[in-house]
Amino acid sequence: SFTLAIVGRPNVGKSTLFNRLVGKRLALVDDQPGVTRDLREGAAKLADLRFTVIDTAGLEEITDDSLQGRMRRLTERAVDMADICLFMIDARVGVTPSDLVFADILRKRSANVILAANKAEGKAGEAGVLEAYSLGLGEPISMSAEHGEGLHDLYTALLPLADQFAERAEEDAPETDVDLSEEEAEDPDAIPMPTKTKPLQVAVVGRPNAGKSTLINQILGEDRLLTGPEAGITRDAISLRIDWNGVPMRIFDTAGMRKKAKVQEKLEKLSVSDGLRAVKFAEVVVVLLDAEIPFEQQDLRIADLAEREGRAVVIAVNKWDIEEDRQAKLKALKESFERLLPQLRGAPLITVSAKTGRGLDRLHDAIMRAYEVWNRRVSTAQLNRWLSGMMEAHPPPAPQGKRIKLRYMTQAKTRPPGFVVMCSHPDKVPESYSRYLVNNLRIDFDMPGTPIRLWMRGQN
Ligand code: GDP
Repeated sequence: SFTLAIVGRPNVGKSTLFNRLVGKRLALVDDQPGVTRDLREGAAKLADLRFTVIDTAGLEEITDDSLQGRMRRLTERAVDMADICLFMIDARVGVTPSDLVFADILRKRSANVILAANKAEGKAGEAGVLEAYSLGLGEPISMSAEHGEGLHDLYTALLPLADQFAERAEEDAPETDVDLSEEEAEDPDAIPMPTKTKPLQVAVVGRPNAGKSTLINQILGEDRLLTGPEAGITRDAISLRIDWNGVPMRIFDTAGMRKKAKVQEKLEKLSVSDGLRAVKFAEVVVVLLDAEIPFEQQDLRIADLAEREGRAVVIAVNKWDIEEDRQAKLKALKESFERLLPQLRGAPLITVSAKTGRGLDRLHDAIMRAYEVWNRRVSTAQLNRWLSGMMEAHPPPAPQGKRIKLRYMTQAKTRPPGFVVMCSHPDKVPESYSRYLVNNLRIDFDMPGTPIRLWMRGQN
């Protein structure tokens, strides 16, 4: 588990959030003389996360001149005690000079800062939320501790960090608990296999009524989520830990996130932004389409985002059970896919029925395969043999008489795979030639279901 410190200047709403996270599980540590006298500590609960939260609000009533200095020291102590810091500002007031002082402490002392703009309910906080970006601490979570808004976002921001600390705890565990599959991961080229502490993160995204909840229920094999014909009926967890065919996974259920939508008109917009969030934390994104109305604007937007965010992508076409002329339909789907989502070329398209469970094993295999390819590393020797073959078959053009020489190629990163080609005149290599390389790289090294990045660099 981990410790979260809520820090920020007085009156931004730290205690309100503290109380919300802790509820009645307060463990006052005031009686430990000298150490944490002004810090409150409690056992916090947020969805399935359990952690310790500390609050620096103890000084808020003090108004004498020493406040600034004491608050500062107290904050530094809290920051040093914590694994993760939640830095809170007041969205209604905007960024103040003392916020800058706290931001500075955090930048210097904490590796894991989550920025929150509180009191952001209604319109009054909008400008403050935007201003918060200027602190240089990343994207602010807009929340209202008072009204309980933004807790989903806090959860999604905490999740990857929480996983990191869970992992560290695992490392501290006695030898007998060591999982063999993790030992094997020492080979740098090996694909990191999902484990209990590091499950494969999968997001199921798609329009309302595409069948996301039905699909997740079917995978779970029990009626855990509520599904029905109305859009927005689902209410349940934000992410679910499951073992699907023996693989530990965490499934982000964007349908579950929708419960925030209070009025029906907001639904479309919300499910898009929830989907966006899920994409950010996923390793593999399953874009679930409704076979009756596939490739709607909303589907295209989210699929495009998944590509731009560099996630592995699997397209699943649902409600295949009610399809009559499946062959013709599949052909049409593939054509639309190619035309509407050329940037996702190579992503597998799997037909499923969330209702009957048909196609789910194939979906599972496609997810695993996309994950594997997303992590794939190709050796430099192989790449360079391949590159000279490519140049022979189709040499780069010579714009304005400048001959472009491709000298050398190497894989710079994985998740998704990214390659660097060292060449003369990198800025003169036409887009079409890069595309030619990427398309063939995908085919020759068999890499469906992942974005591939390629950079042209000059030698210096
Ligand atoms: P969500 O909004 O994406 O979570 O969609 P739901 O899971 O709530 O499903 C919306 C509607 O589509 C419900 O009435 C489901 O029963 C129906 N549905 C979901 N999957 C299938 C399927 O594979 N076949 C058929 N025929 N209906 C489905």
